[in-house]
Amino acid sequence: MKKIILTLIAIALIAVLPVFKLQSIQDKYIPTKATENYHIRSAATEIFAKGLSYKTISQVPVMIDSAAFDGLFAHLKASFPAVYERLHIDTVSTHTLWMKLDGTKENAENILFISHLDVVPVDPKTIKDWEADPFAGEIVDNYVYGRGTLDDKASAFGILEALETLISNDWQPSYNFYFCFGQDEEIGGRNGAGAAAAICREKGITFRTIFDEAGTISIGSVPGLKKTPVALIGVAEKGYISVEVNFEQPGGHSSMPDTGNAILSASAFITSLNEDPMFKPEFTDPLQGFMTHLAPEMSFGLKWAFSLRPLTNSLILSNYQGSSTGRALTTNTAVATMVGAGIKDNVIPSSSRVVCNTRILPGYSVHDIINAYSERASEYNGAVQWYNDYGTDPTATSSFEGKDFLTLGQSIRATFPEALVSPYLTLGGTDSKNFDGLAQQIYRFLPIALTAEDLPRIHGINERLHVDAYRDLCRFYLDLFQRI
Ligand SMILES: [Zn+2]
Repeated sequence: MKKIILTLIAIALIAVLPVFKLQSIQDKYIPTKATENYHIRSAATEIFAKGLSYKTISQVPVMIDSAAFDGLFAHLKASFPAVYERLHIDTVSTHTLWMKLDGTKENAENILFISHLDVVPVDPKTIKDWEADPFAGEIVDNYVYGRGTLDDKASAFGILEALETLISNDWQPSYNFYFCFGQDEEIGGRNGAGAAAAICREKGITFRTIFDEAGTISIGSVPGLKKTPVALIGVAEKGYISVEVNFEQPGGHSSMPDTGNAILSASAFITSLNEDPMFKPEFTDPLQGFMTHLAPEMSFGLKWAFSLRPLTNSLILSNYQGSSTGRALTTNTAVATMVGAGIKDNVIPSSSRVVCNTRILPGYSVHDIINAYSERASEYNGAVQWYNDYGTDPTATSSFEGKDFLTLGQSIRATFPEALVSPYLTLGGTDSKNFDGLAQQIYRFLPIALTAEDLPRIHGINERLHVDAYRDLCRFYLDLFQRI
């Protein structure tokens, strides 16, 4: 009996030992040096709020509201006089701003900061639910309300405010700082950042590092870290493809239905995408980085599970399948987004059509996804074709070991001392994907803290930002520009 107990204790000890090997790596992001704490103008918030009143809305089919953009540009020029005096400023395409501030170093490397000036529309049915007019730049109870407060005018104005402050203090960067303020990120970014990237390719302009929006400081959304803010830096971006699947089968009179038809085939195909996913869940490099950065900060049980990897990989992956974010992080998602069939209530149609959208994990290509859909559709006698001729491969994964990732992490900790820093996989799309291959690394991070309750405000009702959060955002860029 004693022997059995001793053996059990020994097994238990061996099982928990790896937990103690999981060491926190967060200390390296604590800034070793402070940057100059320049004063941010008291008018900064009002300038930002007014910027929201220009309806620079992106919609399909593409119809650019020149008057709105021109109004916004006049506002920028009047509000950031030092920037407009010191920087080289060009307009790319029709309404994308491209700026450059020369670095002091000889043969200085280039750094690019991206954000976008367009916003999504507001669903007219929801206007009544807003606490303030979404296009008036109103400040209510210390919150700036409006489209663009979170996505992405805050970042554009914060960058310009920090620049204005630094230039007014005769500051100059060591490296060349480029800035791209896109006009159409919300509809793919091909005419704005895409055109700017094409010019860079043509002229041979490359970048050491690009900083764009996307990951935020998440409060309560990372499993196992419900209370700690976590700064999620997108080190790669998923790809995008939609396919159209057509099913053809003899139709007929609805009074004598057969057991199969085009609608049933489409339905069985759609159901199969959920019940028997085309791809197995897996860990990608950004997620590996996410685990090494955050697992040591979690509770004992979770730490234990992570410390026993790869033994526990399947357990962790199956856990991730319990939430939509978890599935998006670990799989090539596949979802039907449009279906169509039928012309009359008493006719069984002879064809049906399904459009499916997939966000592609790093390591796969658009063609891998099309092949998988073709194989699956063939089981249901469906034929696959590209939808809308549009698709993008996932981006390369940027290093999260290098100097600029560390600098970014330190700027985060300098402004948000409580936050943990971690690499992440960006699930949506950003303008920076247009520059894939033109930079050694691309980091996607927006210095705004969001709770789970705030997330639906992005593209949703009552998009807003606290006035203090806007000033923190400006301070973050002040710190980052200097720290680089
Ligand atoms: Zn955006």
